[in-house]
Amino acid sequence: GATIGILGGGQLGRMLSVAASRLGFKCHIFEPGAEPPAGHVAHRVTTAGYDDAVALAEFAASVDVVTYEFENIPTEALDLIEATRAIRPGRRVLAISQDRIHEKSFVNEIGLATAPWAEVSDMASLEAAIAKIGTPAILKTTRLGYDGKGQARIMAPEDAPAALAAMEGATAVLEGFVDFSAEISVIAARGLDGSVACFDPGENVHKSGILHTTTVPARISEAQRTDAILIAARILNALDYVGVMGVELFVTPKGLLVNEIAPRVHNSGHWTQAGCTVDQFEQHIRAVAGWPLGDGSRYADVEMLNLIGDDVAMVPDLAKAPRTQIHLYGKAEAKPGRKMGHVNRVL
Ligand code: ATP
Ligand code: MG
Ligand code: MG
Repeated sequence: GATIGILGGGQLGRMLSVAASRLGFKCHIFEPGAEPPAGHVAHRVTTAGYDDAVALAEFAASVDVVTYEFENIPTEALDLIEATRAIRPGRRVLAISQDRIHEKSFVNEIGLATAPWAEVSDMASLEAAIAKIGTPAILKTTRLGYDGKGQARIMAPEDAPAALAAMEGATAVLEGFVDFSAEISVIAARGLDGSVACFDPGENVHKSGILHTTTVPARISEAQRTDAILIAARILNALDYVGVMGVELFVTPKGLLVNEIAPRVHNSGHWTQAGCTVDQFEQHIRAVAGWPLGDGSRYADVEMLNLIGDDVAMVPDLAKAPRTQIHLYGKAEAKPGRKMGHVNRVL
């Protein structure tokens, strides 16, 4: 059978591997960190750094197609792999999503709205950005931020120096603070044949910058639901995308704003494991393997709850709860902020 190469061995790589093995594929994980969660279920793991050209070439040679579970893969590593194997989703979306400024520019260029934003590299450009955008605002590093890391709120212009210091010299983007009524996300898929299928939008609640719950159906109007799906489809088509993408949106009285995109399976799509015949992980594997997309229509109302750090202590009780599906990632230590697992409760 065919082998799928996955860059990254975290929980997303683990759940992709489970889905792939159900479809008869083998998975080869490439992961610099020791004892990756995906290692428990993958056929093979290579533990090597992204600067190890020999290991990368051997990894590429051993697989039929390469996908990834995170977007911050060094360009040189991608070049090396792409010399012999297809990378799906493709390089363009990686270049865009690795940098918030590229991402927002792209989103705006294809006619979609974002929060007002401006590039910030020093105090003068931050002051100019605040003059243009106003406060409250959020300063974010353009690269490498996740789970709310690398962000600083600016409630009033006096907060500017501290916010800039928090960027630690990295290039940043100032975003106007959006007074949203809800945060939603669309988990969208596009096949090798160009067909697009979107899962029903989920409503997201964050706690300390980390996703806490996703609930479907989202409390939005039919018009907003249609808008959300059309926005996601426009993004996928513009990129000639292959695979699953998470599109995070703010719901505002003036319409939907794109917060960010993630060119991979997404935490806010975990509910699909309990709400759909074909979940986001199988959908992604189908897409990158060149299969037809599966039926992702939703047949249940679901709440996904993340188990962060010590939340795993709830597992014995959750294990007794009805209509509750438990997913644990096999991580040894429950550090604060670490995603240990999630539960899907069918409502
Ligand atoms: P992720 O883990 O989703 O990749 P991230 O670190 O890239 O997170 P964002 O998604 O940009 O960060 O922001 C995290 C959360 O902070 C958002 O989901 C939202 O709740 C809030 N937030 C971010 N930007 C804004 C904004 N411009 N206005 C209001 N709230 C915001
Ligand atoms: Mg992000
Ligand atoms: Mg986000």
